[in-house]
Amino acid sequence: MKRRARDLAAALLVALGAASTPRAANEPPAPGVPPDTAAPPADPLPPAPSPPRPADGPFATLRERMVVEQLAAGGIRDERVLAAMRRVPRHEFVPEALRGRAYDDGPLPIGHEQTISQPYIVALMTQLADVQPGDRVLEVGTGSGYQAAVLAELAREVWSIEIVEPLARSAAETLRRLGYANVHTRHGDGWGGWPEAAPFDAIVVTAAPRRVPTALLEQLAPGGSLVVPVGRWWQTLEVHHKRPDGRIDVRRVADVRFVPMTGAER
Ligand code: SAH
Repeated sequence: MKRRARDLAAALLVALGAASTPRAANEPPAPGVPPDTAAPPADPLPPAPSPPRPADGPFATLRERMVVEQLAAGGIRDERVLAAMRRVPRHEFVPEALRGRAYDDGPLPIGHEQTISQPYIVALMTQLADVQPGDRVLEVGTGSGYQAAVLAELAREVWSIEIVEPLARSAAETLRRLGYANVHTRHGDGWGGWPEAAPFDAIVVTAAPRRVPTALLEQLAPGGSLVVPVGRWWQTLEVHHKRPDGRIDVRRVADVRFVPMTGAER
């Protein structure tokens, strides 16, 4: 109940934020309008160790400011999520020319008409996914690899699928270079999920399908949550929680804007 109230408060803040700035989670390339988790396993696995981080001076200062002024002030309350956002060097996931803006409150282009999501949205989705240290997590829409890295700070293992091959390749390279050995990436269509690695304790979709992909609900473990923006141009961020008996509860959390999920709807 407490968690629910907190998420709703966060959603309200998203809505207010969206009203006061034209920016949203991701800006679609198209013309027109601008744009309670798995029962703990009997023998919970420890989290994967976080890769060592060199001190990164001015970026660390900007990152701390992002955490305080955008995330904590915006209603992100999960300390583990805030700690993960403090650790992941977001500037390593954006094109070199945009590094100076990596910690700004907005999405940034990453090429191929795709964007890295606004830090607040990454934190909110991660908080909603309620990732626990022993968890296996699936992400659909690797993009730059940033959200995968944030999830990898909290989970045991992360699988992430990207449909645009050059993005899949460069994200895999960035994650490898930064030492995220617990992230598995694949170039492919996320509509089918990643059946060989299922079931997942949490699934995060960072492109917007017009309806919830059936395979993702099937690949969600009992007790797990699927966080997904659903809709066409403007979307609703939804959390589909699978109860231990397999029934699904749906919560609608916020109005958001993501790039559309492409691929073969099924
Ligand atoms: N999570 C990313 C941002 C994602 S933008 C990050 O942290 O940088 C959404 C991504 O979803 C884009 O890279 C897009 O190419 C990808 N995408 C869209 N449809 C997809 C599909 N069917 N399967 C896998 N990836 C998809």
